[in-house]
Amino acid sequence: MTISRIKGTNDILPQAAAGWRAVEALLRQICREFGYGEIRTPVFEETELFQRGVGETTDIVQKEMYTFTDRGGRSLTLRPENTASAARAYLENKLHAAAQPVKLYYIGPMFRSEQPQAGRFRQFHQFGVEVFGSASPLADAEVIALAWEFYRRLGISSPELRLNSVGCPECRPAHKEALREFLKPSLAKLCPTCQGRYERNPLRILDCKNEGCQKLTEGAPTTFSSLCPECGEHFARVTEALSAAGIPYQLDQRLVRGLDYYTKTAFEMLSAGIGAQSALCGGGRYDGLVQALGGEATPAVGFALGLERVFAALKAQEAEIKTEEAPDVFVLAFPAGNAEVSRAAFALTAELRRAGLAVEQDLLGRGMKSQLKHADKLGAPHVVIVGERELAENQVLLREMARGEQRAVPISEVREILLTSAT
Ligand code: AMP
Repeated sequence: MTISRIKGTNDILPQAAAGWRAVEALLRQICREFGYGEIRTPVFEETELFQRGVGETTDIVQKEMYTFTDRGGRSLTLRPENTASAARAYLENKLHAAAQPVKLYYIGPMFRSEQPQAGRFRQFHQFGVEVFGSASPLADAEVIALAWEFYRRLGISSPELRLNSVGCPECRPAHKEALREFLKPSLAKLCPTCQGRYERNPLRILDCKNEGCQKLTEGAPTTFSSLCPECGEHFARVTEALSAAGIPYQLDQRLVRGLDYYTKTAFEMLSAGIGAQSALCGGGRYDGLVQALGGEATPAVGFALGLERVFAALKAQEAEIKTEEAPDVFVLAFPAGNAEVSRAAFALTAELRRAGLAVEQDLLGRGMKSQLKHADKLGAPHVVIVGERELAENQVLLREMARGEQRAVPISEVREILLTSAT
């Protein structure tokens, strides 16, 4: 019996992987331009990191983590996201002692035991950034601008940017109280999950996907009505900065982050064309996170975006990513099976590769016609034919595939000719 991959995971085959590399290269380029340095954290961590850093009451921690006990009896978890690990690394590596702010980015696989569906996987990939050590609204605007720039350069037609402020531990209690007051008469009609949230975390009722709950929360008091002056000012400056950068946004009071360490800005970008899982990215400010992990109070802001959703959005728009995967040249040995020809072709292939060219050769002992066809399929612009007759005169045939023309050239000159035409 053959073995299949685990449901909700994907094989990324070479052609698709070329697209992934192109997208990753763009992300790295933009991060360089914006001044973010890469961080690579382990794929598994102590379970407690996510319990504290993502939050005990979140769906991720309650239902979606791949948690296992290692041979030493410790509880470990495959990372479901990267912010908690980045904050741990910031503390553990004493990055708070370095020049602030510390601006980091990551790209890598994340793991969540969710019900797989279009756009939702169990192993998926996120790119994200984190700014530690800046309380400035410009940091919020900068991370949003970075995500925006990425989608713009890729050609994903304007995503919808939704923006909210969830306040801070100062002003949130008043908002929670106003919400409870508003929802009190309809408490019994809320879904069971939201009934549980009513006392503990009424803000989360605002982002419940249940239609009944959505109706009941229509007209509920917004955070904006209870933001303290500092949070109000912060939000105004974020929106000013976005407008100054020409980034359009929509206010969305349903956009909430349930946990106490999320503060002020919350945002999301959506793409209309990719189905029910339309969130391209989500992020916000989490001034309480580093402290929740045992560090000093440290302001921080960031976001994570799903790479599978990037490809879904590109596909929906029938947009192609430019990749350069075709070889520069195909070395064709003829006739196949002639040891001398084969040796000379192999040596020439090695020489051309050493010169930095991308070179393909036949590994199946195919005939001339079939090798030419294969070279064409690979998209090689040049074919060097190492033929028995030409070889006797230290020559090879250089064929330009586009024009279908070929000429004899000395074998000693092939490399120079190809290098010149490759530049
Ligand atoms: P989150 O970490 O839940 O805020 O998600 C940030 C982004 O990651 C989302 O906007 C999605 O683009 C992507 N994402 C989250 N969960 C999944 C998943 N299970 N499969 C694919 N992409 C996901």
